[in-house]
Amino acid sequence: MSLLTVGTVAFDDIETPFGKVEKVVGGACTYISWAASYFINDIRLTSIIGNDFPAEEIKALEARGVNMEGLKIMENGKTFFWAGKYHENMNQRDTITTDLNVLDDFDPELPESYKDSQYVMLGNLTPDIQLRVMEQLTNPKLIVLDTMNFWMDVALDKLKLAISKVDVLTINDEEARQLSGEYSLVNAAKKIFEMGPKYLVIKKGEHGAMLMSEDNIFYAPALPLAKVMDPTGAGDSFAGGFIGYLTKTEDTSFENMKRAVIYGSTMASFCVEEFSLGKMKHLSEHIINDRAQRFVNITNFTL
Ligand code: AMP
Repeated sequence: MSLLTVGTVAFDDIETPFGKVEKVVGGACTYISWAASYFINDIRLTSIIGNDFPAEEIKALEARGVNMEGLKIMENGKTFFWAGKYHENMNQRDTITTDLNVLDDFDPELPESYKDSQYVMLGNLTPDIQLRVMEQLTNPKLIVLDTMNFWMDVALDKLKLAISKVDVLTINDEEARQLSGEYSLVNAAKKIFEMGPKYLVIKKGEHGAMLMSEDNIFYAPALPLAKVMDPTGAGDSFAGGFIGYLTKTEDTSFENMKRAVIYGSTMASFCVEEFSLGKMKHLSEHIINDRAQRFVNITNFTL
């Protein structure tokens, strides 16, 4: 099975109560692709970078089986840049800078070999680009879209159009409230289902994630961790684990999506333990399965 990943490949400046790093590798597509690469090996990456982006980072992804035919490298262009600062409560962050740079005029023309991708993860970036990618797909089986408040603020109509065409929307709780105008997440979900998606994943940071359909709800906690250094990319790592597992198992039933939420939460739990991709680059199937089992253990009880 094939997975198409779309999103930013970026440089980040990050400040958390545990430290500060500058110009580290980040971006939604980077985290998604790394996380998904532990589940499947036919990943087709679609993004854009400037010629300032380190070639060894591209090679490292290629070595994990990620196809780079859809990565556009702009000569004389600057890679997307984001700077963020987290507070003592790391569920809250301020965006300090978002420099779109090369993303500004990216027209993602999919390579012929990508067009038949069955599973599609539209990571966080311009809704216009998410729409352009969807237009070119010939045989999608499941399309998942992730986004954030930034795009609700600057491109709400286009974002709603993109959302109307996907199967699963993943957003955080505050964004679900902003998008729907409803405080209760149950009511927010109802409004969002009216917009098009059949499934909604609401990410609640250190409080876990909720999977919802019109008639089902599943709640997964986040793993209680001793060390949380940097939450950047947790949502994208979740998305990568979620879609990676669904692509591997080829089963989009609600029951299987529950397992996908656990694998997504597992990947997010690794991501936050180090800055940037520090931890994500050094995992294995065995390490991932062990941690997924811990989710089973902490939620298992009898009545
Ligand atoms: P997350 O913590 O999962 O929301 O993802 C953070 C990553 O998304 C960072 O590595 C950033 O480079 C990237 N990012 C931040 N803002 C945006 C944006 N407006 N659009 C796309 N990607 C972004």
